[in-house]
Amino acid sequence: MTAARYDVVVVGGGHNGLTAAAYLARAGRSVLVLEQRDVLGGAAVSQQVFTGVDVRLSAYSYLVSLLPDRIVADLALPVTLLDRAVASCTPVLRDGRHRELLVERDEGPATAASFRELTGSDDELAGWQRFYARLSTLAEDLAPTLTEPLPGPDELAARLRDPGIWHDLRERPLADVVADHLRDDDVRGVALTDGLIGTFADVHAADGLAGRCFLYHLVGNGTGRWRVPVGGMGAVSGALATAARANGAELVTGAAVTALDTRADGVTVHWTDADGRAHAADAGHVVSGAAPTVLDELLGRAPAPRPSGSQLKVNMVLRRLPGLRSGADPRRAFSGTVHVDEAASQIDAAYAQAAAGRLPDVIPFEVYCHSLTDPTIVGDTGLHTLTLFGLHTPAELYAEAGVREEAVRRVVAQLDAHLTEPLADCLAVDAEGRPCLQASSPLDVEAALAMPGGHIFHGDLSWPVAATPEEAGTWGVATPHPRVVAASSGGTVRGGAVSGLGGFAAAQHLLGLR
Ligand SMILES: Cc1cc2nc3c(=O)[nH]c(=O)nc-3n(C[C@H](O)[C@H](O)[C@H](O)COP(=O)(O)OP(=O)(O)OC[C@H]3O[C@@H](n4cnc5c(N)ncnc54)[C@H](O)[C@@H]3O)c2cc1C
Repeated sequence: MTAARYDVVVVGGGHNGLTAAAYLARAGRSVLVLEQRDVLGGAAVSQQVFTGVDVRLSAYSYLVSLLPDRIVADLALPVTLLDRAVASCTPVLRDGRHRELLVERDEGPATAASFRELTGSDDELAGWQRFYARLSTLAEDLAPTLTEPLPGPDELAARLRDPGIWHDLRERPLADVVADHLRDDDVRGVALTDGLIGTFADVHAADGLAGRCFLYHLVGNGTGRWRVPVGGMGAVSGALATAARANGAELVTGAAVTALDTRADGVTVHWTDADGRAHAADAGHVVSGAAPTVLDELLGRAPAPRPSGSQLKVNMVLRRLPGLRSGADPRRAFSGTVHVDEAASQIDAAYAQAAAGRLPDVIPFEVYCHSLTDPTIVGDTGLHTLTLFGLHTPAELYAEAGVREEAVRRVVAQLDAHLTEPLADCLAVDAEGRPCLQASSPLDVEAALAMPGGHIFHGDLSWPVAATPEEAGTWGVATPHPRVVAASSGGTVRGGAVSGLGGFAAAQHLLGLR
């Protein structure tokens, strides 16, 4: 069998693999993308989840912040990202009364009144605004570096107008940094959750784990705004795939890469098609859009320790939005991120229980309704979507039968405590009459997407800076073999989340080689 020859073979057609392919093909390289699933996009996809219900859900990732406008412009991606009018709404039961903390995207009088009503004065809002002003300065200074070669720590610090907050996030527990600015338990919790998305971290530890996750949630495009992709997340991956194809890349689905044989002058890529037939392709370079532990296996190396995801993801379709006991307008509240049981003290309690190997009694989580900002995904069905993301439920907890169902039971009961009618009464039903509620544990994500341990970033995030003097000035995409470069979320220094930054960096590295 003669192997077809390409300048670059990309393993995995997740959004990072597609980004790399689009840039490389645009520069004239011959590119083959091999994706094992029958759809492209990895964790950035839209799909009809419920039989007979014509709604295309962002089944895994759902909001975009870290995708640089530069990538959208470079590749002429027809992607529309909409701002939400409300950033977050946190219903709480305090002193026997249902209330909420509202944070508008552009914080105005309603936000000020909400802070005052909940905390009793204007001090907490002042602390909030001081904290987020500092973070916004950091975001503005840091965001441009994400599309440049990796700066060394001193070089980066010299570019920052507020090196103090950068130092604090890196060196101090996130809980202490938040406590420097905020006093209220619920308000602190809203801030802390950004350090815990998909990341099982102790916010009181000085290991930087929560700080890294927090940073990535605040710096996207210099604003940290989380925007709604029109058409769902599949529209983002679809645009990347179209750009790659338009520039000449060949994209093959149902193509599982089984081994990579590296040589000094290239790599032989072994793969099987959907019918189980074996193929080989010869590549000058391989770009790995798959997780690092997957790459280790393909290279025949002992895999690094398997990461462990920690989230519960629930997709729902609703006939109507439920009312809120606080009296807040559900169309306004659910258009932002609704934080439920995410007070700082509840986060601590959940972490302690999960670290001791128990499903938290109270699972901190957030929900949001995509269709309020982007009705295109529900068409003319008159339905709404609701997506729920739970924290502090590590993959290991789900090994026992029934744990996922129990986790769902808990979060639904917790949400119901803030609603005027049970969530179950608002769920649409599918063609077989079953309620439109689908839950995924990290183990389900692993099984569906080959994300090891179901970790949404393929492993814990890294600081966006060179870790060693040798790494400074590189694109942070090195693997054990010079002919294989990483592009994926976990394989690259700055590739986490739906950002395309991993694929961008891999392409820049290869295009810079002589
Ligand atoms: C439930 C959930 C919610 C999330 N929410 C958000 C969010 O709202 N916003 C956000 O920014 N991020 C979110 N994330 C994280 C984000 O989706 C991921 O970090 C990102 O999509 C990873 O992209 P990637 O291209 O690097 O890797 P992946 O999306 O994992 O793609 C890797 C691809 O490689 C393929 N592959 C693996 N092995 C092989 C092989 N041997 N041969 C061929 N193909 C192979 C896989 O099938 C997959 O398509 C979420 C993730 C999850 C799971």
